Amino acid sequence: MKNRICDDLIKLMLIPGLSGYEDRVRSYLDNKLSQLGAKTSTDRLGNLLTTFPGEGPSIMLFTHMDQLGFIIRKIEENGFLRVERLGGVPERALASQAVLIPIRDGPDIHGIITNKSHHATSPEEKYKVLPYKDIFVDVGLNSKQEVLSAGIQIGNPVVYQPQAYELGKDRITGTSVDDRAGCAVALEVARNLVNRDSGPPVHLVFSVQEEYNLRGVLPMAQQLLPDIAIQLDLILATDTPDMNERGDIKLAGGPAMSMFSFHGRGTLNGVIPHPSLVSLFEKTASEMDCPIQRSAHSGALTDLSYVQHVGKGVAAIDLGFPMRYSHSSREVCDLNDLVQLAQLLIGAIDRIDKNFSLSRNS
Ligand SMILES: [Zn+2]
Repeated sequence: MKNRICDDLIKLMLIPGLSGYEDRVRSYLDNKLSQLGAKTSTDRLGNLLTTFPGEGPSIMLFTHMDQLGFIIRKIEENGFLRVERLGGVPERALASQAVLIPIRDGPDIHGIITNKSHHATSPEEKYKVLPYKDIFVDVGLNSKQEVLSAGIQIGNPVVYQPQAYELGKDRITGTSVDDRAGCAVALEVARNLVNRDSGPPVHLVFSVQEEYNLRGVLPMAQQLLPDIAIQLDLILATDTPDMNERGDIKLAGGPAMSMFSFHGRGTLNGVIPHPSLVSLFEKTASEMDCPIQRSAHSGALTDLSYVQHVGKGVAAIDLGFPMRYSHSSREVCDLNDLVQLAQLLIGAIDRIDKNFSLSRNS
């Protein structure tokens, strides 16, 4: 299982898929699901769905395909590009980053986010982070005309140059571990569901535009009206020297569930998980002898916040893998956490039967 997840993860990380431009990622996943014999469909926004029929409360298990990045805002006369930020791009991790501009009919174009020559940097500038409005991208072309001829236009997507490699033993670093690791885990769960004899109905959704507006998956939830929603994404690892005030989540410490999330800036939303689902995952973990970590902090959100309010209300929980250095071009996860997360999900789904209660009064 570890090798399969590793293989999928690395391949998925190397595919560019800015929010709103998830087509290549979807195509990889669609192919993999079709090879398993699963029937897929894609909705108008680009969400990919496959359903495993069954009996009992219906589950929507979802994970996002998109990644953050930029949109080209302006092409300067001398060929440099100005960009708009798409998603929570950390400006202080941008200087000297390699980027890729996917071109629909190819070839994709390499670029670099520039960094002012050190010899010309004043003492005041040395410790200053440039706001994204002031950065520019060099694609090695000399004029606006050359840029346009290469197929680059205002509105084109830009992502970190995709990269993925092993760090130490069993750790993977690179771009968009958030949330291609979730996609790789969900694929592994699909491999199990396609072969099972019984169990609850599961709608597996690979969603769009999570990094952009957190609502790309909403039409799917509105159409499926699931009883239960399980969302897969990173859980912030807090075991680095700069993070340990925030919690107790360790990389390679096993999968984690979020007991509380909240974001008050602009969105005002969050998820407090349904108690039946918290008990389910705790019980499953204990019976499977699998560790499960708990996360509770504000500052992060997933699209589950919106899914939970659909229809009559959806019993919801955020489940995930510990990850370091979120939204940088070198995020880090541990393959053993991904394997255990897949096993935990398979075990938990298996324990949801017709009598599984979502009542608040029992
Ligand atoms: Zn994510």
